[in-house]
Amino acid sequence: MTKNGQTTLMIGLDGATFSILDPLMDAGHMPFLRQFVAQGVRAEMQSTIPPITPPAWTTIMTGRSPAQHGILDFFRPESPGSRFLRFVSTKQLKCESIWTHLMHQGLSAINLNFPVMAPPLPIKGYSIPGFVTWRHLRHSCSPADLMDTLKTIPGFDLKIIAHDFGLEEKVVQGCSFAESEGWIKYHTYKDEQWLLVLGHLTRTDPCDLSALVLDSPDRLQHVYYRLLDPQCFPVDWSEQDRQIRSVLEGHYRALDDMIARMAAGAGPEANIFIVSDHGFGPSQECFYLNTFLEQLGHLKWSERAVSDQDGAGDVSMEAVRNHGNILDWEQTLAYVNTPSSNGITINVAGKNSRTGIAPEDYDTFVNTLREQLLNLRHPRTGQPVVTRIWTREEAFDGCELAPDLTVRLWDNGLVSTVKSDRIVKPRRECIGVHYPMGVFMAKGPDIQPGLQLEPLNILDVAPAMLHSLGLAIPAAYEGRVPVEMLRKECLAARPVVIDDAAPSFEQQAAASLEMDAEDMDLIVKRLKGLGYLA
Ligand SMILES: [Zn+2]
Repeated sequence: MTKNGQTTLMIGLDGATFSILDPLMDAGHMPFLRQFVAQGVRAEMQSTIPPITPPAWTTIMTGRSPAQHGILDFFRPESPGSRFLRFVSTKQLKCESIWTHLMHQGLSAINLNFPVMAPPLPIKGYSIPGFVTWRHLRHSCSPADLMDTLKTIPGFDLKIIAHDFGLEEKVVQGCSFAESEGWIKYHTYKDEQWLLVLGHLTRTDPCDLSALVLDSPDRLQHVYYRLLDPQCFPVDWSEQDRQIRSVLEGHYRALDDMIARMAAGAGPEANIFIVSDHGFGPSQECFYLNTFLEQLGHLKWSERAVSDQDGAGDVSMEAVRNHGNILDWEQTLAYVNTPSSNGITINVAGKNSRTGIAPEDYDTFVNTLREQLLNLRHPRTGQPVVTRIWTREEAFDGCELAPDLTVRLWDNGLVSTVKSDRIVKPRRECIGVHYPMGVFMAKGPDIQPGLQLEPLNILDVAPAMLHSLGLAIPAAYEGRVPVEMLRKECLAARPVVIDDAAPSFEQQAAASLEMDAEDMDLIVKRLKGLGYLA
């Protein structure tokens, strides 16, 4: 029980978007969710820049923007300006998570399957991180003996909450109906295993806040977007398309049932929030940004750079790990380090590079490059390729490890970093990519029924959670409690209180769990499978 006698449940649906959920609700595949939003509130929700999973979920669990919490991408440069990359972990987190904040307020939390939660943070409650390989999972949970407890859950398949990479790669390369069906059902099964964990923990030791991320929407939408969004349906459905669509409908029906069961488990007195970290939409073509920088004379490939032949934008794992080797650093002024960042790093002589542009020429260079990017026209449509550019100051408040420029493309896609003979090529087929507008839905005793709100910001989720839990909002939080969703009686009884006390922050002192090369291979495989490393 919380200070105000309520519990709070947050269900994270990675990548959930109304462009898919609404048609599924209308067609009767998600009856519980349809009823949920009819009895509660819904809003679109603006994600982080760029709208990718690690910074976005970290914003949800800290109430801070990427510049403040320190997680900007899947990867981070080893040091400012370094061409070598490592995966992000809680070691880069620069502020307190809501889980630790709750502990300091005497409240407990369950958080399951959140990215960037390893090594574990100090919390009161339970934590199992997402994005962790099987080998590290046991040591990444909190409390330390949690895995032993979970083994006792009847019917629970412990290993499934880590990852199976083989099947995933196959699906992305194209596969039979049977393989697609197996892969989709694998996600249904995996989501169910997370529900078993949540159910067990909430029955045996209920916490004030329970939060679970289900990542199946993101995984399936990357591959099958064209079969999920009616706007993108094929003109001619093949028999296999129809079969896969039917299995996908089955998955979303199962997901709806899981949401219904979690809501029932939380009880009628719980405030329930359903949020996504970003939205989703279609992408038909691939933009080779490093190749464009080469055409501008800002980048030179090394002899080891191999041109992308089949137009898929593929890059070998080896090339990602040794990305630094495909460029001639002596003659490169600007480059894209990771496709997931959509960010350009500029080599500044004497700062992050031995060679590069002179520091006094930096502003002129940035302004010229901005113009060049904004003036670039799509060879087929004549429309701008780059629709928005943010400087490091604009997007990341000057954070040193952030790219100098971050771009948004006409189709919200992620750029390719590899060499190509053309700057834009069609993809093998339409895929799903992250769009900025995710979803926010809420229902419960605090929440008004049947309201569609103006779009919220992802920064507003943490304040909404804390208010639901009866807590003041730390002044350092950058979002706001969406008071327009609250019933008048609730707001009168519990007005929003801002806590000006300086936030405490303690890094976990536990043993280092830096990812090693083997883990890096597995995660690069996964990212490639998801279409990030294109
Ligand atoms: Zn995501």
